[in-house]
Amino acid sequence: MTTSYDVIVIGAGISGMYQLHRLRELGLRVRVFEAGEGVGGTWYWNRYPGARFDSESWTYGYSFSEDILREWEWTEHFAPQPETLRYCNFVADKLDLRRDIEFKSRIRAARYDEALNQWEVEIEGGKRARARFLITAIGPLSAPTMPTIPGVGMFRGEAYHTATWPHEPVTFAGKRVGIIGTGATAVQAITEIAKTVGRLTVFQRTPNWCAPLHNRRITPEEQASIKARYAEIFATCRDSFGCFIHQADPRHALEVTPEVREAFYEKLYAEPGFGIWMGNFRDVLINAEANATITEFMRRKIRSRVKDPALAEKLIPRNHGFGTRRVPLESGYYEVFNQPNVRLVDLRETPIERITPAGIKTSAEEHELDMIIYATGFDAITGAFDRIEIRGRGGRRLKDKWAEGPRTYLGLQSEGFPNLFTLVGPHNAATFCNIPRCIEQNVDWVTALLRDMRERGLTCVEPTAEAEREWTEHVLDTGRRMLFTQVDSWMMGINSNVAGKDKRTFMVYAGGAPKYRERCEQVTAAGYVGFVLR
Ligand SMILES: Cc1cc2nc3c(=O)[nH]c(=O)nc-3n(C[C@H](O)[C@H](O)[C@H](O)COP(=O)(O)OP(=O)(O)OC[C@H]3O[C@@H](n4cnc5c(N)ncnc54)[C@H](O)[C@@H]3O)c2cc1C
Repeated sequence: MTTSYDVIVIGAGISGMYQLHRLRELGLRVRVFEAGEGVGGTWYWNRYPGARFDSESWTYGYSFSEDILREWEWTEHFAPQPETLRYCNFVADKLDLRRDIEFKSRIRAARYDEALNQWEVEIEGGKRARARFLITAIGPLSAPTMPTIPGVGMFRGEAYHTATWPHEPVTFAGKRVGIIGTGATAVQAITEIAKTVGRLTVFQRTPNWCAPLHNRRITPEEQASIKARYAEIFATCRDSFGCFIHQADPRHALEVTPEVREAFYEKLYAEPGFGIWMGNFRDVLINAEANATITEFMRRKIRSRVKDPALAEKLIPRNHGFGTRRVPLESGYYEVFNQPNVRLVDLRETPIERITPAGIKTSAEEHELDMIIYATGFDAITGAFDRIEIRGRGGRRLKDKWAEGPRTYLGLQSEGFPNLFTLVGPHNAATFCNIPRCIEQNVDWVTALLRDMRERGLTCVEPTAEAEREWTEHVLDTGRRMLFTQVDSWMMGINSNVAGKDKRTFMVYAGGAPKYRERCEQVTAAGYVGFVLR
C-alpha cells in the first residue's frame, strides 16, 4: 500500500526537524523519512572521539523558539557531540516531532509523477509513499566515503569510519591504532585518541592549516549573559557573511604595518573559534598577497609547536594558503606529534599500497595495527543526492543533470524537478554558513512559499530555465574572486575517493548569507519571480 501525504521530508537532522515543525503549523500532513534510528543527523552519526562544534554552541542552536532558548543550557562554548545530540533530542521531545518521523527508513528513489503532480518515494525494503511536495533535508556532509585503496575490507582488526562510529564505547589503551586522513574530523579524533592510545600512526596525504579552538566551560555568569543577549547574538550572526559571531575586520591586511598585522594575527590566534578565518582582515581570502601574510604567520606557529623541525615541515601545507580550505579547529593537535607514541606517515613520500589483514602497507613498509580509523570524510553537498535515484519530469535523473556541476535556482530548486526543494543544497548560502542560521532561513522561505501557494490554490512550483541559468552564473561569479576556488577541495567538488568527482565545480554560494537572504526576499516580493507557479 502507498500512503499519501502533503509533504515528504527526507532526513531528520537540524533541517528536517525544523521543516517538520513549520509545516505542521500550517496544518499539513507531513512525513519525515530518516535513515538513522534517531534525530540529529550529523550529531546522531558522528560519534567519534573528540567530535564537537566549531561554531559557538550558543550561536548554533535554533533561534525560533523562546522556550527552547530559555530552557536549554549549553555547558561548553563549543559543545561536544553527545551534548548536541542531547539537544536535538530535547527539541524533538519539546516539539513532539517523533510521531511524524519514520526512522530506519532510507529513501532509495524518488520519482515525479507528472500526471498526478506528485512525488513517489521508495524506501529501502520496497515500501512506497507519495506527496505533492518533496523536501530534501539530507545534509551537506552525510554521505561518508571510504578510500579507494585495494584491500579495504581485508583487515582482521577493528575498523571504523568516523561518520558511522559505533554506539558502544571503543577503547584505544594498549592498542596500535592507524588513522587515515587529516581533515577537520581527523584533527579532532587524533587529539582525543592520543590521550589514551598505545601507539598511534597518522597517515597524512594533505596537511591542513589548523587553528586553536580555545574551548572552555560556560560559567554561570556567561550563561546568564548569553540568555539575556540571544536577540543581539542572532542579530550579529544575521549580519555577518557566514552567520558566525565573527565579523570580518574592515581593514585590509596590506594597508597596516607589519607590526600591527602581527599583533592582530596573535590576537586572533589567542581567541576562540573561527575568528581567525571569518573575522580576519577582509582581503585575506581574496588577495593572494594578503593571504600570504596570514599563511606565513600560521607556518611559524606550527614550527613553534612541533619540536622536531623535520616533522613540523611535514605538517605544513604546501598546496594551499590559510583559509582556502575548511580550517580544522584544534585543541592541542600539533603537540600530539611531540608524543613518543605518535608517528606521522607522509603519504606524499610513501603512498599507501594496500590494506592488508594485519594493517596498512605503504611503499616503504607494512604497519601492523589493531585498529584502522577511516577519517576520510564525505562525498560533500551533492553526495547524498547522488545516492538517491531522483527522477523529475520526463524521467530525467538529477544526477545526470548535475553531472557537470549543480544547476539550481537559489540553491533550493532545479528546473525539471517541480515541487522538489533542496534544503542546504548546492549553491545555497547554507553551504558556507553557521548552518542552523541558514537552515532557519531556508525552511522559513520554503514554508512561506507553500503557505502562499495554498492560499492561492496553486499546486505546482518550478523555476524557469532562465532563472536557473542566471542564478548558476551568479553563484559562479561569487566564487571567482575567492582564493578557495583555485584550490582542490570538497567545496570545489573534488573527492579523489568518488568516481567522477575529479573536476572543479563550484558547490557552495560565496556571496554571503545576508546577500542571499536579500535575494530570496526580493524574489518573494516580486511575486516569486523566476518561478512558474500553477
Ligand atoms: C563532524 C561534523 C562537525 C560539524 N560541525 C559543524 C559546526 O560546528 N558548525 C556548523 O555550522 N556546521 C557543522 N557541521 C555541518 C553539519 O552537517 C550542519 O551543521 C547540520 O548539522 C546539517 O544539518 P542537516 O539537517 O541539514 O543535515 P544532517 O545533519 O546531515 O542530516 C541529514 C539527515 O538525512 C538523513 N538522510 C540522508 N540521506 C537519506 C536518505 N536517502 N534517506 C533517509 N534519510 C537520509 C541522514 O541520515 C541524516 O540524519 C558539521 C558536520 C560534521 C560532519
